[in-house]
Order: sequence, then C-alpha cells, then structure tokens
Amino acid sequence: MLKVSNVEAFYGRIQALKGINLQIKEKEIVTLVGSNGAGKTTLLKTICGLIKPKSGSIIFDNKEITNMNPHEIVKLGLSMSPEGRQIFPKMTVEENLELGAYTRKEKNEIKESYEKMYSLFPRLYERRTQAAGTMSGGEQQMLAIGRALMSKPKLLLLDEPSLGLAPLLVEVIFELIKEINNQGTTILLIEQNARMALNIAHRGYVIETGKIVLEDEAYALLQSEAIKNAYLGAE
Ligand code: ATP
Repeated sequence: MLKVSNVEAFYGRIQALKGINLQIKEKEIVTLVGSNGAGKTTLLKTICGLIKPKSGSIIFDNKEITNMNPHEIVKLGLSMSPEGRQIFPKMTVEENLELGAYTRKEKNEIKESYEKMYSLFPRLYERRTQAAGTMSGGEQQMLAIGRALMSKPKLLLLDEPSLGLAPLLVEVIFELIKEINNQGTTILLIEQNARMALNIAHRGYVIETGKIVLEDEAYALLQSEAIKNAYLGAE
C-alpha cells in the first residue's frame, strides 16, 4: 500500500532523512521506533506531503505521491494525526471534525463517517459543541485522531498519539488504534511508548539519525536484546 524508497530530506543543510526505505502492506499496523530527533516526525511529514524530499520516491496505492500537495494526498486516502494534537482550540469539537472532512463532498457518506467516528469516540459526541481547547489532553488527542478519520483514510499516520496522557488513557488510545485497524484502516504509528506500540503492531522499523537500522516482525523486535536495551526500558 505504501512504498518509501531511498527518501532523503533536509532542513536547510541538516540532513534529517538519509535514504529511508519502508513498506506498509494493506491492513497492517507498522510502528516506527526511534529516539528523540531520529527523524520520525520528519518521515511522516514527508510521506503526507508537508515536507518535500530532496530525492527518492513515495508510492501510495500504486500512485507516485512524492511531489503531490498534502490536500491531494489526503484525497487519495492518506491522512495524518499530528504530534501535539494541533487542533483548533477556539473552534468547537464538531467544527474541528468538519475540517477533517474538507476533501469530501458526498453528504451521506460524511454523515456515515461521523456516526462511525462518534461510535469510536462517544466522548467527542458528548462534547461536540464545546470549544476544543477546553477539553482534557486525552480528549484533544481523540479529537485529532477523529479528525484524521473524517477524511476516510485507507492509511492513517499517527504521530505520538499517547504523548502526555495518563497511563489509563494511553491504554484507551491503544485499544482505539487497534479497533480502527480492525475496521480496515492501515496504520503507521510513531510512539515514544515503544513497547505498547510494538504490542499492537504487526511489524516495526527502527530509525536512528535518519536511517532505518532494523526492521522485523513486531514480536521479534520486542524480544531483541538490543531493542530492549535501547528502547523498551524495564518491563
Ligand atoms: P521527536 O520524537 O523528538 O519529535 P523525531 O524522531 O520525530 O524526534 P524529527 O522531529 O523528525 O525527529 O527531527 C529529525 C532531525 O531534524 C532532528 O535532528 C531535528 O533537530 C531536525 N529538525 C526537525 N525539525 C526541524 C526544523 N524545522 N528545522 C531544522 N531542523 C529540524
């Protein structure tokens, strides 16, 4: 479904991605593990068109998207829920969600997406007329994911969905990610919480200073001593 080949990206003269190769098959959850500054966010932004790669290619659903604009990429069925939520705090929950559906025209289908999304996130339904910025961190995170789902993505990119959340809420978010995947959405997940992310993933990639250094089945990465020492910490 997604094939990233030899992608290089720069911030000025700093090279953040140094020839990334990565593939995602339909219906998979793939986790990208890496330390702060390894290039995870940069890779997601490059895939969804927010950063133009200097070289390499990105194929999504058999189409070359390497130099497409983000809104064209969303239309093809690839959307991202960004780190730090980046919701619009003064707008209501429902207005934020509406923005997620901006590429779509079919009213009935949009209504269906609302229903599906609200059944995943009943809390958003309860809060739909509330200003988004007044919600709790966990609720805002749900809103960011819900908004990304409103474009009806085939592939959903999630950047640190559990960042800053209390442990109980982290579990809720991971359960929801599993459910979204069970309903047919392919997922690329970046997480500081590598153990939990690998626990729900099928496969994983490890990125270090802009390069993929390891890829394997998620269960194999969870058992690897090197991964345990570097990324998983104490159980
Ligand atoms: P984190 O988990 O801390 O967000 P990350 O793996 O997502 O880390 P990136 O944000 O992709 O890392 O950053 C990769 C590298 O690019 C880092 O060295 C970072 O300092 C640099 N970088 C990121 N954004 C910019 C920017 N806007 N301008 C210059 N350098 C940047």
